[in-house]
Amino acid sequence: MRAEIIAVGSELLTPYRLDTNSLFLTGELNQVGVRVVHKAVVGDDPREMQTSFRHALERAELVISTGGLGPTDDDRTRETVAELLNRKLRCDEELLRKLQERFSRFGRPMPEINKRQAMVIEDATILPNPRGTAPGLWVEARGQIVILLPGVPHELHALFASEVKPRLEKLGIRERLFTRDLRISGLFESDVEQRVSPLYAQYPDTETTILATARGIELHPRIWSADPEHAEKVLNEMTERMALALGENLASTRGENMEELVAALLAENRATIAVAESCTGGMLAERITNVPGSSAYFLGGVVCYSNELKASLAGVPAELVREKGAVSLEVASALASGIRQRTGATLGLGVTGIAGPGGGTPEKPVGLVHIALASERGVREKLFQLPGDRDRIRQFAVLNALDMVRRHFRFPPPGRG
Ligand code: AMP
Ligand code: MG
Repeated sequence: MRAEIIAVGSELLTPYRLDTNSLFLTGELNQVGVRVVHKAVVGDDPREMQTSFRHALERAELVISTGGLGPTDDDRTRETVAELLNRKLRCDEELLRKLQERFSRFGRPMPEINKRQAMVIEDATILPNPRGTAPGLWVEARGQIVILLPGVPHELHALFASEVKPRLEKLGIRERLFTRDLRISGLFESDVEQRVSPLYAQYPDTETTILATARGIELHPRIWSADPEHAEKVLNEMTERMALALGENLASTRGENMEELVAALLAENRATIAVAESCTGGMLAERITNVPGSSAYFLGGVVCYSNELKASLAGVPAELVREKGAVSLEVASALASGIRQRTGATLGLGVTGIAGPGGGTPEKPVGLVHIALASERGVREKLFQLPGDRDRIRQFAVLNALDMVRRHFRFPPPGRG
């Protein structure tokens, strides 16, 4: 079944409010076998709304709107849809009574304008709103379904769960969405695309979305199918071939983020870690401690921005900083082995780089980041030339530092460790 979502509300056409209801609805609809083929955002203008609903009914069997069911004059979804479907609005006496009751429970008389919320489209099913005054409406017309839902997110969530989802489940849609969530680091988006895109044509029933974020690249192969066994088989095969194409850069096929992977690896290997960070200013420690239970392996860390603190807190020799510069492989290594030694951790991570926007030179441009990992195997250091602005450079530095830990455990050099 194909659906279109219409988000109604003039505030959604300003720079200040984003339509998030459709994200929630898309996730829920997918779970019951409904595909979202189109989304629209429209202001509280009856003419524009009518155009949106008319177009939606031309291309989808199910149209779901949120917003515009309130008591005020700018809430016009009910009227607009009634007019479009050539249906009358009627006052539902029971609804009116319940509205009045609700107000008297809060000890105040019902304002006259709230009466509008007892107006329903004829032959519509009323969907009681457990969290607010605006009920939803389920209208069937010409073999299509139109569902009008409130805009306030927590009301929408509750009403969808109690009234909409069970009804959609009863429609008997057999098709379901099956997906995988692959996490990749160490490649640019275009590299990932180049490696996996030849597979797309070989699995024409699937659709793969690629998402580049500061926390890595995600690949989501998806398939709609009424046959779970077939879907799982196709996805398994495709994922295996993607894994081959991505090699060691594939961090997870189950959607775990890098700090979760690192957490699992540290725990599994009974290892501990400490960090000495400069350009990431504590972000690395923050990310590691995002994982519940991180105290089992994270000993702590230092943020050593100044050369003095690099010496006093992580034991980086002052002459090394003078000779090689604070942003250098040598200083990254000294940070890593220094913090490892001082804390007694199994692993020490050191990060130093130029996050910009100032401070770059032709030899050491903005985005240059040195990361070192000290272990019983010695120190491994890596140079990264990271793209983007200050924020992205720092995010990427954290990701790559964590990725070095992942690679340390997953891919130890042959013949050692
Ligand atoms: P309404 O039901 O049109 O009175 O909407 C009430 C409030 O819900 C609005 O002021 C918004 O804060 C919120 N809201 C409405 N539509 C959306 C949407 N699509 N996404 C997120 N919030 C929304
Ligand atoms: Mg509104």
